[in-house]
Amino acid sequence: MPDGSTTGRPSVLVVEDEAALATLLRYNLEKQGFHVEEAGDGQEALNLIAESAPDLVLLDWMLPTLSGIEVCRQIRRRHETRNLPVIMVTARTEDQDAVRGLNTGADDYITKPFNMEALIARMRALLRRSGGMPAKGALEFHDISMDLATHRVQRGGRPVHLGPTEYRLLEFFMRHPRRVFTREELLDGVWGKDIHVEPRTVDVHIRRLRKSINGEGELDVVRTVRAAGYALDTEQV
Ligand code: CA
Repeated sequence: MPDGSTTGRPSVLVVEDEAALATLLRYNLEKQGFHVEEAGDGQEALNLIAESAPDLVLLDWMLPTLSGIEVCRQIRRRHETRNLPVIMVTARTEDQDAVRGLNTGADDYITKPFNMEALIARMRALLRRSGGMPAKGALEFHDISMDLATHRVQRGGRPVHLGPTEYRLLEFFMRHPRRVFTREELLDGVWGKDIHVEPRTVDVHIRRLRKSINGEGELDVVRTVRAAGYALDTEQV
């Protein structure tokens, strides 16, 4: 099933051919609440990105099959992943000027050996930025509240953790409660008119949003309207 994030945690794809470092990253990132997937080479990374639509990619510079630079270029070339946050990981032995100067399209980069806390702080900052520029204020619907300044979402007083796309999707719904949107309208409103994404991507993110926002025993607030689309609604029919 093409769904990288099973619990609404931000999902990160770790692309790293050094198994020991990949294991260390997975251990630390999972401890910090990330959903982690791993790819050991560039081609596998591109396949996994297409399949599971991660929220962020941690991309090693030197990789077998396709280099990190080439993977990054391909990520930027594809409409579906043009805005996918990428942090490039480089080794000290690599020419730092080349790393800086090459227009790879990475959002940030970090040099090995790196401090895990520093890396996680950068990942969080990038995920916040990619969540879209918030207008100040708060949105409310039923028992859900969304603080647009801090990006904190609560349902019935409990915190809800959303990936960047699910956050924008919920914000869009909360600005137009009960209105039914087609997948195409959601793509235009949430992803942007110039971005060409497969309509089924909407379904993936709707599924993730539901998993995060609907706690056990709570009402499903996402209404599926057959042959039409989706709405934020407390009435399912
Ligand atoms: Ca490497």
